[in-house]
Amino acid sequence: MTALIIDGKAIAAALRAKVAAQVDRLSQNHGLLPGLATVLVGDNPASQVYVGNKSKMTAGAGMRSFDHRLPASASEADLLSLIDRLNRDPAVHGILVQLPLPSHMDAHNVIEAIDPAKDVDGFHPMNAGRLATGLPALVPCTPLGCVLLAKSVHSVLAGREAVVVGRSNIVGKPLAQLLIAESATVTVAHSKTRDLSAVCRRADLLFAAVGRRELVRGDWIKSGATVIDVGINRVESGNKTRIVGDVAFDEARTVAGALTPVPGGVGPMTIACLLVNTLRAACAIAGLPSLET
Ligand code: NDP
Repeated sequence: MTALIIDGKAIAAALRAKVAAQVDRLSQNHGLLPGLATVLVGDNPASQVYVGNKSKMTAGAGMRSFDHRLPASASEADLLSLIDRLNRDPAVHGILVQLPLPSHMDAHNVIEAIDPAKDVDGFHPMNAGRLATGLPALVPCTPLGCVLLAKSVHSVLAGREAVVVGRSNIVGKPLAQLLIAESATVTVAHSKTRDLSAVCRRADLLFAAVGRRELVRGDWIKSGATVIDVGINRVESGNKTRIVGDVAFDEARTVAGALTPVPGGVGPMTIACLLVNTLRAACAIAGLPSLET
């Protein structure tokens, strides 16, 4: 068997185009221009690239992008005061504080300072709680993208056996909640899971969000399963850096029914879903209906 390679780039481009069309209608019909504020503290090179891409894509969808940079030496109070300003700014509908933060800052304090209505990362406990209790919420972008990629293969996930490897607050846990909401039967595995390969082999839908290069081998995958690889692992070879996923791609493609590549799978969907969330936040704040994904 050779797996269908799920084209995350193309699916993300189509989603960004849908967002751009709705942004255009919003500004024509309601004079509303969604705005996303990004905040980067320090000069982590990977974070600089992520934030740069997010700003570029935001502007590309016709939304306003406000970039804020604070030095690594900034205090938590400086950051909280910037967030307070953004919470009160009517031109800003979404606030994204790029993680990780410098070690002298408490990420929980920072996330909780963001107005939940503008929390386009969906990390605020209010949004996490709303998602877990089935209320409308701003949902973390990467898990949202994973579910949309799985649904590009199977329009209905109900009843399917889903295994999520990883239980972080930003990927694994919200992904499990979204899959429960889709009526999949969900198992969440992590570093203490016994016989992980056997657990993975049960999955019709396998999601790997671990951060361990090629942890998931071909013989961990049920024949015909859909595999969504969230992992971003940097591998140095000579003077070049390659990005490798959590799934051994060449092995997996001979067993899986469908598989996301790394790069070009989940990554582009994460940014497209950030645009969806910014649009949704702007519509919700203005009391207007928003995009269905
Ligand atoms: P975390 O480090 O926060 O969580 C990793 C999870 O994997 C933990 O739950 C951990 O278990 C589990 N784990 C670690 N080792 C093993 C193992 N050997 N067997 C089973 N489970 C294991 O990572 P994130 O959730 O933030 O990110 C996961 C990956 O996804 C990373 O590669 C990250 O770069 C990538 N990522 C990609 C994004 C994208 O846009 N494509 C966005 C966000 C993340 P335990 O809880 O027991 O420690």
